[in-house]
Amino acid sequence: MAVKNNKIKCKYLLKGVPASPGIAISKVFKLKSESISIDPTIVDDSSVDTEVEKFVKAVEKSKSELKSLQSKVVRKVGLENAKIFDVHQLLLEDSVIIEETIHSIKKENKSAEFAFFHIMQKYENTLNGSSTNHFQNRSSDLRDVKRRVIRHIQGDRTDQLNQLSGSAVIVTNDLTPSDAVMLEKRKVLGFATDLGGRTSHAAIMARSMEVPSVVGLRRIFNLVEEGDRIVIDGNEGKVLIQPDEKTINHYRKLQEKYYDTNRKLDEIRDLKCLTIDGKEIELSANLEFSDEAESVKSHGAKGVGLYRTDYIYLTKKELPTEEEQFQEYRKIVKKISPDPVIIRTMDLGGDKLPKSFLIPPQENPFLGWRAIRISLDRKDIFETQLRAILRASGAGNVKILFPMISGLDEVHECKKALENAKSELQKEGIKYDLDIEIGVIIEVPSAALLADKIAKEVDFLSIGTNDLVQYLLAVDRGNERIAYLYQHLHPAILRMIKQIIMAGHQEGVWVGMCGEMASDPLSTLILIGMDLDEFSVSPIAVPEIKKIIRSTEYREAARIAKKVLQFDRPSEVERFMTKVVRKKFKNLIF
Ligand code: PEP
Ligand code: MG
Repeated sequence: MAVKNNKIKCKYLLKGVPASPGIAISKVFKLKSESISIDPTIVDDSSVDTEVEKFVKAVEKSKSELKSLQSKVVRKVGLENAKIFDVHQLLLEDSVIIEETIHSIKKENKSAEFAFFHIMQKYENTLNGSSTNHFQNRSSDLRDVKRRVIRHIQGDRTDQLNQLSGSAVIVTNDLTPSDAVMLEKRKVLGFATDLGGRTSHAAIMARSMEVPSVVGLRRIFNLVEEGDRIVIDGNEGKVLIQPDEKTINHYRKLQEKYYDTNRKLDEIRDLKCLTIDGKEIELSANLEFSDEAESVKSHGAKGVGLYRTDYIYLTKKELPTEEEQFQEYRKIVKKISPDPVIIRTMDLGGDKLPKSFLIPPQENPFLGWRAIRISLDRKDIFETQLRAILRASGAGNVKILFPMISGLDEVHECKKALENAKSELQKEGIKYDLDIEIGVIIEVPSAALLADKIAKEVDFLSIGTNDLVQYLLAVDRGNERIAYLYQHLHPAILRMIKQIIMAGHQEGVWVGMCGEMASDPLSTLILIGMDLDEFSVSPIAVPEIKKIIRSTEYREAARIAKKVLQFDRPSEVERFMTKVVRKKFKNLIF
């Protein structure tokens, strides 16, 4: 399906969800997903021995993995239940399977994974055709063994990423937050994924790494070949595969223009964030890694409105110790000082699965054991983190933010845990900010409806639209098929935001927004007009949002907010705001 028009000529042109702005032009590096997908690869004669060796090693690795798994299971549930692993090990010692695979590599030049997959599939089909349960169960054993060996042949994601030598665009079915933390920023020029939406955590990570990305492309992984030339247009959500020279030159010009606009925006970096008529608005940035603190400052943000501490847990095999966390938090706090750093307690679960402790598979992970629910269940983990945050508060201006609160009991429990951590530190004579402020992310609809009551208990509220939109509209934030329904300009969302801000103000606390809506130029005027006190946006969005705030009159924004609250549909709000913003800010990037 070649594409040709005046400016664009390429093999495929795909449209997805723009996840991180900018333009990348490079070659493809295919990152295979952990669920096995097999390329039917035929190798050269010279590679046959390497493929055989790969296969034999993968079988050995699988056997020793099974042995250690078995002894763990014996300890936990007894010998009888661990017998299943005997069956799996026997399958790996089956000389017919091993010899047939090696034969197929040597005689048919199939790659190791392709040959083994084929042989196993043959036996699986035979067993599946059987009418007895016994043989059908054996078929699931075969499947398990097949996946294990193939995973070792392909290497896990870490092994694969280690093979990335130069810089490239990563093309993958799905990028999890744990993959994203392993990426070397200087080698990754862009991302393109089949799955995911704008607020899936991998997309958020891409923005924090300032890497142009498009997600939700549905079928890119199967369309591209390793090493293909590729253009990622993260502004428009387009991906071009195998573009011709003229198309590449066209995109180089767009890339230059994009950098130029950004350079110009950077000129307002040190100016205050005030509306034309003098209303001061806090503009801070969201941060995921300590080495991003520099970029928070260089883009002109005043402090960190959301520090997602989850990545400390995702990068390590063991739980991070209090000391490790303290050192990390303090490093950021010192860099950002005297501006505030709002540290959110961990928000694991959902799509963020740590290696250091088990979050069992759940039917609905985003509605399950996640964030504060884990913290309140695992007080050991929670209080260790609270102690580390409190200790870091001795080094600058720190506030604490609790995620996924759904009601007042949880707020009370958080406060109790914080008091425990404080009194322990006091006993030990360790310094911390005695008046440390606490806040709650309003991201669950029940908390939004109780915002006035919650506000009485805390010092500030921060609206987490990424989850609030997902929960209020019942739209999975990471599902590309329903991305069209994931709309923060939905009238129901706008009403709810207005209500949260009013409830906070009525109780005398400030209200910010740390969800991605705060970074959307189409939302800025509405939020100013609704009296939002603080915007916390991804660092790359800071200059653009500052520019809009500085070019806006508060009174006009209030009129606009009032008007859009009358609309019935998201499309009407979007159309109206696009017109307003285009007219007012011709020189910006929209
Ligand atoms: C949110 O839900 O809006 C938020 C800021 O948190 P996260 O994206 O980490 O879930
Ligand atoms: Mg959230």
